[in-house]
Amino acid sequence: MNAPASPDPSPALGPSPVAAGDPQLSLDEARAAIAAAMRPLDGLEHSPLTAALGRVLAADILSPIDVPAHDNSAMDGYAFAGARLAAGQPLQLRAVGTVFAGPPFQGRVADGECVRIMTGAVMPDGLDTVVPIELCRVEGEPASGQVHIAPGVLQSGENRRRRGEDLARDKPAVQAGRVLRPADLGLIASLGIASVPVRPRLRVAVFSTGDELRSLGQALDPGCVYDSNRYALMAALQRLGMDVLDLGVVRDDPAALQDTLEAAIAGADVVLTSGGVSAGDADHTRALLARMGEVAFWKVAMRPGRPFAFGPVQHGGRSSWLFALPGNPVAALVTFYALVRSALLQLAGALPEPLPVLQARCLQGIRKRPGRTELQRGLVSRGDDGQWQVQVTGSQGAGILRSMSQANALIVIGHDQGSVPAGGMVDVWLFDGLVG
Ligand code: AMP
Ligand code: MG
Repeated sequence: MNAPASPDPSPALGPSPVAAGDPQLSLDEARAAIAAAMRPLDGLEHSPLTAALGRVLAADILSPIDVPAHDNSAMDGYAFAGARLAAGQPLQLRAVGTVFAGPPFQGRVADGECVRIMTGAVMPDGLDTVVPIELCRVEGEPASGQVHIAPGVLQSGENRRRRGEDLARDKPAVQAGRVLRPADLGLIASLGIASVPVRPRLRVAVFSTGDELRSLGQALDPGCVYDSNRYALMAALQRLGMDVLDLGVVRDDPAALQDTLEAAIAGADVVLTSGGVSAGDADHTRALLARMGEVAFWKVAMRPGRPFAFGPVQHGGRSSWLFALPGNPVAALVTFYALVRSALLQLAGALPEPLPVLQARCLQGIRKRPGRTELQRGLVSRGDDGQWQVQVTGSQGAGILRSMSQANALIVIGHDQGSVPAGGMVDVWLFDGLVG
């Protein structure tokens, strides 16, 4: 575990949690304040390359070799000395052998000679140009015949890959902070490296709060609902490659909350909760969090998901970052993606990578007042005209999780924007990339 001994609470966190009237922040202000407070947690592990997908690289990978290690051919054809090419003149060369990808050509190549060469084969000494097989005419046997090159079909040096052209020795191949993807692993393998330094996985404790919540496997008593937030949030964390500590459902009771928070701080770098942060909710939550750390309660000008609390909490000489999400299931997930996801990646040491934002034609009109960001659930597809279009997925109530389950994107209507007419263009955050 890597929670900082004493995180440095940002001055941007706002006034103390017990102050009357929670500060109102725009979504951008809230994101910026959280980002300013995050520092990557320390730590280093070594992972075999075969287990490193999705891990955060902890140090630059420097190439121990030139890639490619030798000048080699980019085409199947004939290698020759490009100095023999003369403007406007045909060229005739005699083939003296073949070289395949692998061991270099052993023979000698004299003036006026060429070598049949395959893609990836090492360029024989003194030869710097390859005429592709389809650009020459061969008379006689491929490996010993006469090769005719018409005037003007290529220039000296063409179709040769230079040693170190992909990557020079001692140059960074992959940068620290990279969340490793398949191509990165291929690149690292091409350098002969079998194990990589990675950041420890972020450890996140998750619990849900509410007397009305029941866990899976329990009977659903009258007036109760199954806890869905914990399952959705744990899955979102798994997708981000984080370790999850499942602390279940906690009753709306200060002692139970305190016990669970203490266990969470003892076991995790981050505590992620849902429910119990709305204005009417429990002054005792605020009083408890005020005792345990420097948690700010915000009204974030976004829909869904207004109430949100964030800050460091301490217990037993350890400290963790608390993110408290609203309880409504859609609000919990949307605030997770809009406010928490990138902060967790920062803590995990990942370099920020902007998510792709798509512009799409909105098939329905959306009514909205300026002064808050609205994140509706949408289904993006290609219209008959080949352009992106997006359809709102059913009822957009903050508790209607089906709208999120059916969606493949969030429609983002900015803080200062007003209503969008049917057919108007909107920004869209695709779930692929965001969620994956
Ligand atoms: P709260 O933010 O605690 O006031 O909760 C707002 C609404 O979300 C209430 O209707 C809760 O029953 C519901 N809710 C809170 N937490 C969860 C959860 N973990 N799973 C499903 N619904 C929840
Ligand atoms: Mg509640």
